[in-house]
Amino acid sequence: MTNKFSATLNLNNTGSVTCRACNFEINPSCETWKEKAILSEKPMDGAGGSPYSLSKKVLLRQFFCPNCGYLLDTETAIAGDPFLNDVVKC
Ligand SMILES: [Zn+2]
Repeated sequence: MTNKFSATLNLNNTGSVTCRACNFEINPSCETWKEKAILSEKPMDGAGGSPYSLSKKVLLRQFFCPNCGYLLDTETAIAGDPFLNDVVKC
């Protein structure tokens, strides 16, 4: 049985987190999955137009499926900040 964990991730009955696009097992346990994803970090400077042009320290983090490249999640952070983790209680 598979449950929708987010718009891009599923949580199956064994507690693993999978990509909703290709069903690839991103993390076999219900612990944080972001360390297993492909990470891209880019400065937010100008990324969204003029509202973000003043801060060069704020980063846009994008997390992609390591199998199909599907965009799984995004967050903003300062360099070196820990990931914002979605904790799944199994
Ligand atoms: Zn995938």
